[in-house]
Amino acid sequence: MTSEGSPAKATGAPPHLFPNYRRLPVAFVRGQGAWLYDEAGRAWLDCTSGIGVTVLGHAHPAVTEAIGRQAAELLHCSNLYRIPQQEELARRLAGLTGLDCAFFCNSGAEANEAAIKLARRYGWLRRGGGAGAAPEIIAFTGSFHGRTLGALAATGQPHYHEGFGPLPAGFRHVPFNDLEAVEAAITPATCAILVEPVQGEGGVVPPAPGFLAGLRELCDRHGLLLIADEVQTGCGRTGTFLAMQGEGVRADVVTLAKALANGVPIGAMLADGRLAEVLGPGTHASTFGGNPLAAAAALATLEVLEREDLPARAATLGAHLRQRLEAVARRHPGCQEVRGRGLMLGLVLDGPAQPVVEACFAEGLLVTVAGGRVVRFLPPLTITAAELDEAVARLERALARAGL
Ligand code: PLP
Repeated sequence: MTSEGSPAKATGAPPHLFPNYRRLPVAFVRGQGAWLYDEAGRAWLDCTSGIGVTVLGHAHPAVTEAIGRQAAELLHCSNLYRIPQQEELARRLAGLTGLDCAFFCNSGAEANEAAIKLARRYGWLRRGGGAGAAPEIIAFTGSFHGRTLGALAATGQPHYHEGFGPLPAGFRHVPFNDLEAVEAAITPATCAILVEPVQGEGGVVPPAPGFLAGLRELCDRHGLLLIADEVQTGCGRTGTFLAMQGEGVRADVVTLAKALANGVPIGAMLADGRLAEVLGPGTHASTFGGNPLAAAAALATLEVLEREDLPARAATLGAHLRQRLEAVARRHPGCQEVRGRGLMLGLVLDGPAQPVVEACFAEGLLVTVAGGRVVRFLPPLTITAAELDEAVARLERALARAGL
């Protein structure tokens, strides 16, 4: 915060760091629940959860305890050996998703790289191995799948690609929510469809009724894998453990990361058991992936998530927040609509969201921009209704401050 009353602007890069992040001028030293505390002791209401990560809120004692206990025993040993915590995590995720085979890595992009490799190799094996048409994956305009080259190539927002070519070939982008376009894009080379059930970075765009079920039907008809990128939507955020479950659709492959260990880096690719043999010994790996520390933190996170039924809480509190935001949108002509699922909500504006996000910052409320014109709310699933009301009150002051 620069000074009371003046919306803070992103500062220049700190020395010795690449200027690739537009950082706001604050450093947090402590967190508790939905609140962050800066060096001066000021409390900030966190409706970003570190971009969809801290689902249980900051400093959750169950995760803190699990990390401490595991760190004192064994941080890391390598996937050359059995890791009981990882096996237990895979078992638990299978129970939550119905996908009984897991690969662990360290981030969302890496989980998507694994899914892309799985799909390509599935296509290759289906053709009997050897040469043949290069496999293709259908993805969507407006999507975001990560910054590594494969995930970037899958990402359907060309501005992220600028200057990073040549990108891996084999991705075909079609408009989100357009089933006819998907069907028209399927060729004998197509091996999979990759979709975010609710587009996050693209602007919190929910699926049209029947769209995801339609993708499932196309995949069944053409023998394709349906891959759901649930890196942002997963782990209860949208009101069910997977957003796909809220739509009653089963994907063949699901990627998770962000919230899975409440802030300890981990990614996961979950798949139907029939795909297990596609990634035989030596085909894919990650040094850190699912190490004892990350797996223990994820197990503690899932334990709380299930015990407290936080997906249901996300649905209830999401309805509460949506109603409050809709009331705000009606009062401010610069606001168009509220959209999303559960506690993944976006307030769509007529113009750029950045000035509103900066005005929220001046009010001590942390939110992010998505898709240029959307103010995105991703609060912890443990936040209270009173805290959400406080967030909305701060947002409303920020909208006035930004002249909307
Ligand atoms: N997929 C989706 C849907 C995301 O929202 C993100 C990050 O925002 C990613 C993938 C990339 O995740 P990570 O930054 O952990 O690589």
